[in-house]
Amino acid sequence: MAEVSVITNEKLAIEIERKKSGFASGVGRIFAFVIGGFGVLISLLLFATIIGILPGIGLFFMSTGIIYLGLGKQQVACPHCKKKQPVLKTAENFNCPKCKNLTIINWK
Ligand SMILES: [Zn+2]
Repeated sequence: MAEVSVITNEKLAIEIERKKSGFASGVGRIFAFVIGGFGVLISLLLFATIIGILPGIGLFFMSTGIIYLGLGKQQVACPHCKKKQPVLKTAENFNCPKCKNLTIINWK
């Protein structure tokens, strides 16, 4: 990339109310981590058996998907360009994929 676009280095901080979604809070969250973690472990064992590699791959992606769900994401609108994107509820900040600006999140 030869062309350098102007970087304003503009950082905006936004306050967001953390949404409580049913699955990603409390017991559902613990379940997601336990089941997901267990699934990853089994998939690693399947990898080790060589013949189990294919189902192992499937199980691995399913398990990481479950863990991902357990982490919990929330739609947050970028204050620069208003683009909505999923942001981890534990994130301190996020980089907008559209305008590339950094936004600092203050969770309420
Ligand atoms: Zn943006």
